[in-house]
Amino acid sequence: MLWYDNAVMKYALLADIHSNLEALTAVLEDIDRNGSIDEIWVLGDIVGYGPDPRECIKLLRSHKHIAVSGNHDVFCTGKMDARYLLNPEAATACRWTSRVLSPEDMEYLNALPEVIERDDFTLAHGSPRDPLWEYIMTQNIALINFDYFRTRYCLVGHSHIPMVFKLDENGNCISLPLSESIGAVLGKDKMIINPGGVGQPRDGDPRAGYAIYNSEARMIRMHRVAYDIKLTQQKMVKQNLPVRLISRLEKGL
Ligand code: ZN
Repeated sequence: MLWYDNAVMKYALLADIHSNLEALTAVLEDIDRNGSIDEIWVLGDIVGYGPDPRECIKLLRSHKHIAVSGNHDVFCTGKMDARYLLNPEAATACRWTSRVLSPEDMEYLNALPEVIERDDFTLAHGSPRDPLWEYIMTQNIALINFDYFRTRYCLVGHSHIPMVFKLDENGNCISLPLSESIGAVLGKDKMIINPGGVGQPRDGDPRAGYAIYNSEARMIRMHRVAYDIKLTQQKMVKQNLPVRLISRLEKGL
């Protein structure tokens, strides 16, 4: 028996950090408390909305990680004009972010691919069909997207809501819960999994959300961590970021 056949690999799955340093720091500390991991897999939107884009990039880059690009990452580097963002507040935050990012930060964000295949997983921000833009929120949209990735599982972010979709043997798409108490068991069926949002959760729980994939247990487990929301909000006020973006953090919406 070759020992490395059974090597247990653990990966932390982080989506939508959104320049929220307090949330990212709390998540990284929580990961450490839960035991060591081999790598962080980042599902896009590292920047945008929040007050600490530079610090978040720096902290992330001090950890072993891979990352795909999100729509906010693309806008904040100026690859696309922020006015095409549907939400004017997001566009305002993007323009502010573009002004504070260093050339090195821009270079880092610009180099992020839209899709990564790693082991049994495809990583994309929105969806495998339309990596920067499409939200996978319904079974119908998930069903279409199962044709757009070759690996058994796909990891996405973008909606900031933890969700799991599974393609069963009859070709039907079913949605499954994902929470701290209910993990996603990885079997033979294709699955699309969203581990929730780190820096701006939208499922009504304001705590930062992320997940851990354990290759031995074949399981993805969700974790929630409280962080200093008030401090993030104070920094946003100081930078004159849009009020709605500030208030939504404490509601988790
Ligand atoms: Zn996002």
